[in-house]
Amino acid sequence: MNNFQYKNPTNIIFGKDTIAKLAEEIPADAKVLMLYGGGSIKKNGIYDQVKTALKDIEHFEFGGIPANPEYAVLLEALKVIKDKEITYLLAVGGGSVIDGTKFLAAAGVFEGDTPWDILTNKKPTLQAMPFGTVLTLPATGSEMNSGAVITRAETKEKLAMGGAGLFPAFSILDPQVITSIPRRQLVNGITDAFTHVLEQYMTYPAGALLQDRFAESIMQTLLEVAPKVLEDPSDYDAASNFMWSCTMALNGLIQKGVPTDWAVHAMGHELTALFGIDHARTLAIIAPSHYQYNFESKKEKLAQYAERIWNVTEGSLEDKAYAAIEKTESFFNDMGIDTKLSKYTNEFEGTAEIIANRFTERGWLGLGEHQSLKPEDVETIVHMAY
Ligand code: NAP
Ligand code: FE
Repeated sequence: MNNFQYKNPTNIIFGKDTIAKLAEEIPADAKVLMLYGGGSIKKNGIYDQVKTALKDIEHFEFGGIPANPEYAVLLEALKVIKDKEITYLLAVGGGSVIDGTKFLAAAGVFEGDTPWDILTNKKPTLQAMPFGTVLTLPATGSEMNSGAVITRAETKEKLAMGGAGLFPAFSILDPQVITSIPRRQLVNGITDAFTHVLEQYMTYPAGALLQDRFAESIMQTLLEVAPKVLEDPSDYDAASNFMWSCTMALNGLIQKGVPTDWAVHAMGHELTALFGIDHARTLAIIAPSHYQYNFESKKEKLAQYAERIWNVTEGSLEDKAYAAIEKTESFFNDMGIDTKLSKYTNEFEGTAEIIANRFTERGWLGLGEHQSLKPEDVETIVHMAY
């Protein structure tokens, strides 16, 4: 097992009707900006619940943060933060609203030339405005981690940021919010969370027995509850296990003491930036090709995953490892997710070269658990995913 440090300061408030506890978490003298997305919270009652909980706290609102939080929209929100002298941010939404809020928390105290530098300067964000979240969509784990991904339509870029200053102070997780989530977003959430586990698990073996079993337990739970949640999102037992699994998949715990990969996300982000494909779907496009291409380095872990998650017991280590890739791809396909880029766009030719060039320009010359995946490898993997 590798050396590690572990600290996660986010206070999780989990369960039925917990949105009502919101005001207890926010300082009474705070001036709050409540941030939300395209309006789903106004249809499903979450907006009303939040407004009721905030009735004794001074607050303003900013709605309209789109899926894949857009830099230009966030700059509008930043103006409100400055103009109204906001002291506390409250994200009410899924990963996009929470990530957008994290960017704003950093931008609110940033002193450089332009806030875009936060995305490009490669410096961890250690200081930020305080913020909390009300999670409306289980998927990203953003409610209990310190990362964010921001999109800029003007340049077709999607870049990650983060740092110890960007953990939410609290996150409210009421599984009842799942009832109104459309099937497409439920499928995305299951796929994103499952792939988060894979990114931290599907590496060379590192002798981290407990970490492996934490990761496997999250995947097993997701596989068990996925059909139930898709069948009936108001099934509270299924919804609560789904929600907690998504949070645990990316709150830092399972990545401690192990090598992690994250190359699937790095490539996937480019597909969203170039074609607007949903985040989770980009992962399902890239992951099978990535595991095939890196088969030698990952085959022992793939075989372990085949045995423990997919109950594949027959054949050689290689046979099991191949079966694992096939089972994973079928799992995505069976939920209705296409795993080839050409199913999403006719303009896929040249994508692999564009992505490889971008990685070269950014100096991303060694991705994956060995930091050995070069832009030419990335080019081949994206080609395999056409
Ligand atoms: P999302 O983009 O936040 O939301 C997707 C859609 O779901 C929106 O149209 C939203 O509608 C709707 N929605 C949300 N909650 C709903 C509810 N309770 N009922 C009905 N509709 C609801 O989806 P996401 O998958 O959570 O976030 C994706 C983003 O997170 C991507 O940008 C991805 O790159 C990023 N991400 C971040 C991390 C991280 O660790 N920070 C990890 C992985 C991915 P409204 O807009 O109308 O509310
Ligand atoms: Fe993700």
